[in-house]
Amino acid sequence: MGDLQGFVADLLERRGAAVEVVDAEELAVLAPPYVQKSMGWPEFSRLGFGTERSPAAIPIGLEGDWVDRLAALLSDDGRWATREVSPGDGVPTPPSEPQRVLDRTLDLPNAVWRFQGMNATYARCLILTFRYVAASDDKREGLIWLGVNTSTGAAITDLVPQMRQILAQLPDWQAPAPTTMRAAGPGWDAATIESRLRPLLGRQVRDEIEPFLRAMRRRLTRDRDRVHAFHDELYRAARKRLATLAHAGGERAQDDRQRETLRIQAIEREHRAKLDDLRHNYALRVTVEWVQTLELYVPVQRFDVLIRRRKGERLIRVDWHPLIKAMEPPLCEAGFGRGRVRLVCDDKLHLTEPAGQAACSSCGKLFCRACFPMACPRCGQTSPMPAE
Ligand SMILES: [Zn+2]
Ligand SMILES: [Zn+2]
Repeated sequence: MGDLQGFVADLLERRGAAVEVVDAEELAVLAPPYVQKSMGWPEFSRLGFGTERSPAAIPIGLEGDWVDRLAALLSDDGRWATREVSPGDGVPTPPSEPQRVLDRTLDLPNAVWRFQGMNATYARCLILTFRYVAASDDKREGLIWLGVNTSTGAAITDLVPQMRQILAQLPDWQAPAPTTMRAAGPGWDAATIESRLRPLLGRQVRDEIEPFLRAMRRRLTRDRDRVHAFHDELYRAARKRLATLAHAGGERAQDDRQRETLRIQAIEREHRAKLDDLRHNYALRVTVEWVQTLELYVPVQRFDVLIRRRKGERLIRVDWHPLIKAMEPPLCEAGFGRGRVRLVCDDKLHLTEPAGQAACSSCGKLFCRACFPMACPRCGQTSPMPAE
């Protein structure tokens, strides 16, 4: 069975239909009234998923409105799923030299750190799926994934592709045990999720549509140059005719001059109108829609690390993920949290990427964007995170 056939069979069974797999490309379905109505099928039908199918089979594919009808039947099921991944057999042994693993993970130019210990526990990771549509004269759509470990605060988007691969191979869906949930610590409320993920999402969408934008800008420049060249030529010709008429006398010449002047004005008007059309055609609309959240409880080796900056100290945690044999990046309390360099702030010992401690673009004061997320504490300049 293909992916689509398997999905349809599963969904129909969950909605009370009796489904028989006829062969690798066909299903026989006995549908209850609700499914009949929703999908527009009779009580008994055959569904064909391949290129060759029996004459009576209804062809099901990704074209047409099948996807929309299936989405309606699916409704909001699966929008938020919770799953525990148990360590199982053959879990890789934890790193034997934690100090060296941390050396490769942490880069703290303005603080010192000390490894305190390591223990096997669970982390709560949220993997969120969003769908974006960018439309101008052309259209681009796709899915993006964001990941965050709420037990340590680390952004783990870069680990998500590997995690999804592993998840796809795991056999059974397992609800998390209460002890697992306790070990992972308290979850984040909606406001925290929103405030932490919004900048990550914006950045990810921009990265994703960048090639599309570049191609669009190229087409816009090309069209604008073309419009400009066309009108420029008309304009020059009209100016030239007007110049040759400049010193001619008589009523006829007077009329000709007036006609050419009107023509020049019309050319200018049309040029502006054409540029407005282009602006309208190439106006970009981007929509981003949340699709699904997967709340995943995964086994981790948790490293406790003591951070020291001037007279302050603070304990942070960094998780090593046995499932993908990888260390997550250190937490980042302001900014995108890619890379491994973090600066530590003086007052609260927040960890941020370097831009999170940069000078205010307006008054030049150095300040921490985790301490002052909304505005510069000296001059009040808003959206103070410097552009990358
Ligand atoms: Zn300022
Ligand atoms: Zn701070």
